[in-house]
Amino acid sequence: MQEIYLDNAATTRVLPEIAQAMAKAMTENYGNPSSIYEIGQNAHDILDTSRQQVADLINAEPEEITFTGGGSEGDTMLLRGVARKYKNKGNHIITSAIEHHAILHTCQALEKEGFKITYLPVDKYGKVNPADVEKAITPQTILVSVMFANNEIGTIEPIREIGAIAHKHGVLMHTDAVQATGHVPIDVKADNIDMLTMTAHKFHGPKGTGAVYIRKGVKMEPLVYGGPQEHKMRAGTENTAGILGLGLAAVHAKKYMAEHSKQQIKLRDKLIKGILEKIPYTRLNGHPTDRLPNNVNVSIQYIEGEGMLLHLDMEGIAASSGSACTSGTLDPSHVLLAIGLPHEIAHGSLRLTLSEFTTEKEIDYVLEKLPGIVENLRKMSPLYQERKAV
Ligand SMILES: *Cc1c(COP(=O)(O)O)cnc(C)c1O
Repeated sequence: MQEIYLDNAATTRVLPEIAQAMAKAMTENYGNPSSIYEIGQNAHDILDTSRQQVADLINAEPEEITFTGGGSEGDTMLLRGVARKYKNKGNHIITSAIEHHAILHTCQALEKEGFKITYLPVDKYGKVNPADVEKAITPQTILVSVMFANNEIGTIEPIREIGAIAHKHGVLMHTDAVQATGHVPIDVKADNIDMLTMTAHKFHGPKGTGAVYIRKGVKMEPLVYGGPQEHKMRAGTENTAGILGLGLAAVHAKKYMAEHSKQQIKLRDKLIKGILEKIPYTRLNGHPTDRLPNNVNVSIQYIEGEGMLLHLDMEGIAASSGSACTSGTLDPSHVLLAIGLPHEIAHGSLRLTLSEFTTEKEIDYVLEKLPGIVENLRKMSPLYQERKAV
């Protein structure tokens, strides 16, 4: 078993009490929520309770919450659903260059359907400039979609300002809040958000379950067709156990958010400071303060991220790198390129993402092991040797 799990932006551990409650829902309240007999109605009660719990986390109304099969589904459903519904009003959508692929690939698919997409650049910290949003709006613009916080570099975007600009021009505002939900406060009303995506497994709930918030009055075409479940927006017999887990994760996150974020910011900043001090030729990626409490992303020059990950794994540390090897290509991350990193620096990036289970001892252990790993890898790096020769 992995001793130190620092890849919580990829997924999180399900809280044991949530897993237990889900098991009970599957074996006891296993009825179809659409049935009228008791176990069906019990299952339906689970949906009602979770809908309220999820709404409470983001200051929405329960009728504005639709359960989904996770973040990618939610993003696809909202973008495509709104685009197709409002296409007679206009065919232009504004997003950012650093969105998750669930947004970017949906946008590419919409381009094939005739939509025009503007991919806004970001500054060196990964922030979208609200003034750029305003400049990009045309009479054809129907939607602005900018993520609440970036999954790689942790930067928190000025969503409230961007939403205000969209609304001033009569344009809908969507945010992919998958990394932010349960980690930082979100108030869909105050933050000028019309639609939002979340997924349970990024805040200690189960995988394959999420929700979207759709403000009353916003219309869209469904992504999944079939029965009348989820206000006819998402057909299919509901994943009762998963939805129960999502609701419980929302309650837990709301209750402990202030405490846990304070604790994680302390450890995050200790880790950042330690890496920058102990290892030469390193830089922090993302905004120094407007960043997720659990996100550390650094570029370590003259080495490949993949090699670093393997050596960290051998020391029992689970981490992630910025080169998108997972997609089968060796292209560096589009996010790191968008903040202006050259290819060779983007290749040596390391993302360490904390959770409420992360301890100071674990951070100290990483700070003890990482400098040696980097030093050994650099010894084998011709680039590093050349640099030294200069
Ligand atoms: C993880 C993630 C997603 C995808 O969510 P899934 O539930 O894994 O489909 C979408 N957007 C962002 C920003 C993410 O971090």
